Amino acid sequence: MAKILVKRSCGHEEIIEVFGKESERQSKIKWAENTPCSECYKAEETKDCKEVKMLYKDYKNEYANCKTKTNSYDKSDKTIIVYAPNETKEEKIAVAIENTHMLDMPAEITPESAKNAIASLTPECIKKVSEQVAANVCQNHDFDFFEVTGIVKAHIEKMLETCKEIAK
Ligand SMILES: [Zn+2]
Repeated sequence: MAKILVKRSCGHEEIIEVFGKESERQSKIKWAENTPCSECYKAEETKDCKEVKMLYKDYKNEYANCKTKTNSYDKSDKTIIVYAPNETKEEKIAVAIENTHMLDMPAEITPESAKNAIASLTPECIKKVSEQVAANVCQNHDFDFFEVTGIVKAHIEKMLETCKEIAK
């Protein structure tokens, strides 16, 4: 086995290991010259991800198919830096809305409580509540108020549909 310094396609120099017959070594070197270095490869693979420091066990349980930052494991607190997929803006807004707990549904909805909800969820009420929730969300996040209002409104209308199903 030999360690050889090659210039990779991205322009970085990297030491690669080659072994086997001379022809195999040459083809590995050729391949290395035509592909980006491991760091550039990783950067490309993780460009839609963000670095998240998390417990190693959470990484194993929930992010096992994500890449991790080289040498980022911290023995002292058993954490590792994981390249977790970026949430879309819609997902971020949905989580922010959930975190207000202003639209939490009761664990159990009886036909009676569903009827009450339907009666109180007038279009004016839905509009008012949507704006209140959106105002709350936008206090802490850099989202567009009208966009959030629209998402909340759709959310409430869906809840209303659920209530209608239950009230039947
Ligand atoms: Zn590179």
